[in-house]
Amino acid sequence: MRKLIVVTVVMSIIFSLGTLVLAAEEVNLYTNRHYDTDEEILDRFTEETGIEVNVLKGDSDQLIERIVREGENTPADLLITADAGRLHRAKTRGILQSVKTKTLTQNIPANLKDADNYWYGLTMRGRVIVYAKDRAAPSDLAGYGDLTSDKWQDEILVRSSANIYNQSLLASLVSIYGAEWAEDWAAGIVDNMARKPQGNDRAQATAAAAGEGDLAIINTYYLGKMINSDNPAEVKVAKSIGIHFPDGENGTHVNVSGAGVTKYAPNKENAVKLLEYLSSASAQKFFASANYEYPVNPEVEASELLQSWGDFETQNINLTELGIHNQTAVRIFNRVGWQ
Ligand code: FE
Repeated sequence: MRKLIVVTVVMSIIFSLGTLVLAAEEVNLYTNRHYDTDEEILDRFTEETGIEVNVLKGDSDQLIERIVREGENTPADLLITADAGRLHRAKTRGILQSVKTKTLTQNIPANLKDADNYWYGLTMRGRVIVYAKDRAAPSDLAGYGDLTSDKWQDEILVRSSANIYNQSLLASLVSIYGAEWAEDWAAGIVDNMARKPQGNDRAQATAAAAGEGDLAIINTYYLGKMINSDNPAEVKVAKSIGIHFPDGENGTHVNVSGAGVTKYAPNKENAVKLLEYLSSASAQKFFASANYEYPVNPEVEASELLQSWGDFETQNINLTELGIHNQTAVRIFNRVGWQ
């Protein structure tokens, strides 16, 4: 008799614990980011809202494929990944849903989010020209169009066209100048390449510093990473190159790292709260500076290092265009032989 009571008590404790766990608010985040500061930001979100954040880190394209595979049963509520072209791909693969709130509209400029609100930019980077300081000067440089001029014969270092950053850059030029102009431009870059495309953005900067070419095309945050690197060789590279924000025609190509609520999010409301939180002034500063990026929220200033690089004009397009023209960009790359 006594045993039975004990069992019942234990059982009811287990059940009430179970209910507690089930009742606890949570949100499941799939992210390509891996910064310690992100954990602090998420902890603060939990403190303020009581919502636990479960994080799954992974490679961007693998996370997208995983959500596709998981289908309606996906635990993912919010996906964070880099590049508007890739976010657009997530949208067209049918794994995101449209979300619109006053806070998101207020915090994130209209050109840095999906036109149908399937994803929102959270941090911004520029795809810029860096030059070897001992061989080129900012006064030699203008917009992207100038890179095809004869004066840069065999001087341009840029990675493969298989990379989404280059696809988005070319897609932006398709959007602004049309496919014909973009194809001439891509062919002109191939003509001026210092070598066959190889390596990542940092490898291009390293090759410029080593004298393989005068100019390289890289994302701004890589310069921040190299300046702050533990590796003295990287710091040396960063010091020997200068940054130029393409101007002259239509400004600098910018892109985002951003997030979208998944189509089958089991905790949609919490996902929206987390997305709003990440766009808030208090989170933006840390979220952006973790990867040496620009905050998207206009209320928030960029870090000191980024401010020291100076102001610049951004291309005057909605980033949704980068996804829309991605296929055209890929076809152009193939036609002009940009490997
Ligand atoms: Fe990157």
